Amino acid sequence: MIRVPISRALAMALALAIAWSPAPAQLPSLGDSYDLTPSAERRIGERIARELFRDPDYIDDPLLGEYVQSLWQPLLAAARARGEMTSDLDQRYAWRVLLGKDRTINAFALPGGWLGLHLGLVGVTTSRDELASVLAHELSHVTQRHIARMMAQDRRQTPWVIGAILLGALAASKSPDAGAALITGGQAAAIQGQLNFSRDMEREADRIGLGVLTQAGFEGQGFVTMFDKLHQASRLNDSGAYPYLRTHPLSLERMVDMRSRQPLGERPAAPRPDLEHALMAARARALSSGGVELQQALVREADTVPADASPERQAATLYAGSIAALQMRDAARAARYLERLKPLVASHRAGARIARLMSAELALASGDADRAQAEAGAASLRPETLLAAQAALRAGRPEQASQRLQTWVTVHPADGTAWQWLANAQSAQGQALRAIRSEAEARVAWLDYPAARDRLRAAQEMVRRGTTDHIEASIIDTRARAVESLFREQALER
Ligand SMILES: [Zn+2]
Repeated sequence: MIRVPISRALAMALALAIAWSPAPAQLPSLGDSYDLTPSAERRIGERIARELFRDPDYIDDPLLGEYVQSLWQPLLAAARARGEMTSDLDQRYAWRVLLGKDRTINAFALPGGWLGLHLGLVGVTTSRDELASVLAHELSHVTQRHIARMMAQDRRQTPWVIGAILLGALAASKSPDAGAALITGGQAAAIQGQLNFSRDMEREADRIGLGVLTQAGFEGQGFVTMFDKLHQASRLNDSGAYPYLRTHPLSLERMVDMRSRQPLGERPAAPRPDLEHALMAARARALSSGGVELQQALVREADTVPADASPERQAATLYAGSIAALQMRDAARAARYLERLKPLVASHRAGARIARLMSAELALASGDADRAQAEAGAASLRPETLLAAQAALRAGRPEQASQRLQTWVTVHPADGTAWQWLANAQSAQGQALRAIRSEAEARVAWLDYPAARDRLRAAQEMVRRGTTDHIEASIIDTRARAVESLFREQALER
């Protein structure tokens, strides 16, 4: 799980524990290890996820999100097929991966089936098999209910306090001076113990994860090459950039175990060249929280990439350089890299699409909203939909943006970002009542029920002052009642 710089984590945990101080009767009882019900665990996870959604480091990048889903969904299906995931857990847990901009190499499982994945980790993987191996390992911590067991094992702390400690640790792990706050002392070590999985749990997550990984159609070698990569990195680098290692101890035993489970006669092969993965890892590097220094480095790499490097490497370097240049507001430079990228990916379906979407992003940033909308195209996929809607809005055609987003949220009602853009489009059309309801739906999607309730109350007040939109008024009443009960449920868990 996560690195715990203890002073801030503890301070936050205590503050939260007090704020949440539970009446004993409302606590899930802590008897045997499974007494923490999946529903209770899910609610703890939702409280943590709610904070993550608000965190400025949380990133909803449609392309990276879609790519991670393309690995995550087959892993979930494989876990179901192998009987690792009971239907109870399947229904009650969130099974969602949230991306963080953090450039450190980290991934972690939270209570209730929420996973955190740092762009820093995505950025160092060289194949989809490697990234999938990390997801399969974390997924197996969840299906084996390691978190519930860990929480239940420690009777000194209520699950809610452990949830608070996790939250504090998450907040503190991103602090730039986190390295200065490493764990020392007995009490801190005890808390560190609560947050880390045991060696047995790590071994179990490796073995079950490997089965899930290969059943889902990925190469089991992904585990081996990922371990090799982490192992080598840990020998060269102990600057705190590898929190994953601190929380998932990489013993020689685990490496040998994974190697020995590969099919006989297969040696750790170099990862298969994979243009789509190379581009997505490059995007993760470019969007991670490295600041101007990182952007300048990526631009330098794009300027100096050797012409005899593999096409995947050239394409990835140019793509990262183009995104970095755009972030530095140098659109001309971004366009130059993109022009060099296009011929390298033209014959590759996913690669050509990624280049076309980059072209749309560039056009939007350069103020050419018409071209951005045209480049984004009409496909009913998330990156296309959100980009085209943004472009339509910028071009002064909010009705087109509304239409497209309305269709999208009808099928994907939990998409907070789409609801927020829809609110902007409706607002630009002068549809104040609808806009405020869409804003409320965005807050529901981000699990922020108090904010959703406030907006729905404001909408009801608007209706009382007179409206002709009776259909919307009746939807608002229905939603206000539903959100009120979600709000109460969340408030009860203090
Ligand atoms: Zn682990």
